[in-house]
Amino acid sequence: MSHSRRIVPSSTGTGGALARDEEFYVAFITFRVGDLLFRVPRKPFEEKSTAFSDMFKLPQSGPGNDSYNVCSDEDPLRLVGIDQQDFRSFLKVLLRNESPAKLNMSINEWIGALRLATMWDFDAERRKSIDVLDELLDEGALIRKLSIAREFGIQQWLQPICEELTTRTATLAPDQARQLDLGFLDSIHLAREAHLKSILYHIVTKYLQPVCFCGGDLSADRRAVVRSPEWYFQCDSDACKREFTIGDAIRMSPHISKTDIQEDLGQIANSMLVQRLMKSSI
Ligand SMILES: [Zn+2]
Repeated sequence: MSHSRRIVPSSTGTGGALARDEEFYVAFITFRVGDLLFRVPRKPFEEKSTAFSDMFKLPQSGPGNDSYNVCSDEDPLRLVGIDQQDFRSFLKVLLRNESPAKLNMSINEWIGALRLATMWDFDAERRKSIDVLDELLDEGALIRKLSIAREFGIQQWLQPICEELTTRTATLAPDQARQLDLGFLDSIHLAREAHLKSILYHIVTKYLQPVCFCGGDLSADRRAVVRSPEWYFQCDSDACKREFTIGDAIRMSPHISKTDIQEDLGQIANSMLVQRLMKSSI
């Protein structure tokens, strides 16, 4: 047990410096966050975070400072721009070796811990916070989860959330949309449109099977359907090659009642849009 030295009195026993046990002589550090002091073991900060280990390599000087006890109450290490509650939450995750249930922290407290773990590169504490938040944030909190994933760069959340937003039937509620920036909203709408277009493409080509005036089948390039803003069906007959819009192609299906589809395609979407525009201009 070479790392666990005994504390040996100096040879005279009358006041020389004593050795300190390497394992059980705990070094502390004092932080100042706002107007509050925190005094905690220094080792986890040194060992787990390059941000802090680099800081602690700096020579310490001044009254009360030595290589074990860095910073005194009079001269604490000041953490600027840090929220006290965030820091307290982070310390619970870092220093209390307890299960998440025993820590009994709220969602906001876990977000605070995640914020500082991310800022200072504490990998294990970041992973733990992400895992717990994943459990705590249920399906109803999709948009909140999305904003947390974007703020803290949680890649493993983004893929399933974006998939859900793109493929689910429900559109975003107005209060959900207000939480997102316009550029991202635009991307969601484009992804949803591409998704719905690909569904429509399959329905039209597999079930409606539209036929051209000349008797040729109408088909479309599947990739163009999803990716390009313009989307045309083309007659397969080499002698014809006429192009039709999706609306026209649907009307040209032998399986569709002309009256119904005229009603649906021509009026429903348009009247919804007109109503919306009327509302927003009031
Ligand atoms: Zn044709």
